[in-house]
Amino acid sequence: MARIVAGIGSSHAPSIAFAYDAGHQQRPQWKSFFDAYVPVKHWLQRLRPDTLIVFYNDHLNRFQLDAYPTFAIGVAPELPIADEGRGRRPLPDVEGDAALAWHVARSLVADEFDLCVSREMVLDHGVMSILPLIADQPWPMRVVPIAVNVIAEPLPTPRRCWRIGEAVARAVRSHAADTRVAVMATGGLSHQLHGAGFGFTNPEWDNRFMDLLEHEPERLAAASHDDFVLRGGAESVEMMVWLAMRGALAESGGALRRVQRHYTAPMLTGYGLLAYERVDP
Ligand code: FE
Repeated sequence: MARIVAGIGSSHAPSIAFAYDAGHQQRPQWKSFFDAYVPVKHWLQRLRPDTLIVFYNDHLNRFQLDAYPTFAIGVAPELPIADEGRGRRPLPDVEGDAALAWHVARSLVADEFDLCVSREMVLDHGVMSILPLIADQPWPMRVVPIAVNVIAEPLPTPRRCWRIGEAVARAVRSHAADTRVAVMATGGLSHQLHGAGFGFTNPEWDNRFMDLLEHEPERLAAASHDDFVLRGGAESVEMMVWLAMRGALAESGGALRRVQRHYTAPMLTGYGLLAYERVDP
C-alpha cells in the first residue's frame, strides 16, 4: 500500500531558477533562502520517498488561456522541462510515475473531481525552481504533477484546494504499489507583480499564514480569494495551493513533525518554506 510520508510547502519563482542556474546561492540576497533548503534535501535523502506529488500552477507553459483546466494531472512517464524563454535549463528531465498518476486520476474522478488528464506535460518553474533545491541529480524521485488554476478566472476555492489534497491522500492510500510518497505544494507567498501595488509584500501575513497552515488550516480553507488578495497582493492567491498539501497530510492521519520552517522576503516576493514528516501514532 502506498503511503504519504512527508509534506512540503514552498514558494516558487522564475528568479529562484535563474539564481540557481547562475550559481548565486552564496550571494547575500539569496544565501539564507538557498541555505534553508539544504536540511530539507538531507532529510529527504534519509526519508527516501519514491514519488513526489507536486501541486503547483503552470504559467502558460503547458496550458494556455484558450482552455485552462481547473485541475490537471500529468500522467506521462517522462516530464520534460519547459523552456521559459532562456533556453533549456541545464537539468535532467524528470521521470513521471505513470502508474501512480493514472491511479490518482481514476481515483479523483471517482471521487467527483473532474480533472484534466494530461498525457503530455512540461514542468515549468512551478515545479522546477524548487526540485533542484530539495534533490540532487539525477533525480532520486519520480514526480506526479497536479496543476491548479490560480491565474484564469474562475479559480477553484481554497476549500476546493484543501479537498483535492484530501482526495489525493485517499487515492495514495488505495494504490496497491508499495510507494512512499512526499507531497509538495508550491506558490506564493505575498506578492503583486503589476499595477499600483507592484512589489507589495506582507511578511507579517506570510508568517501568520504559515502558523495557520500548521495549526488551524481549516480557517485558511474557509477563506475567500479576496481574503488572500487583500492581505498578500493579487498574485498571492496562489498561497491557497499550499492547502492541497496540508489537506493531504490531514487526511493521511498521524502526527506531524515539523522539520523546517523558513521565511525571507528579499525582493518582490515573500519566500516561505515548510516541511513536515508524517509520524504514525
Ligand atoms: Fe507562480
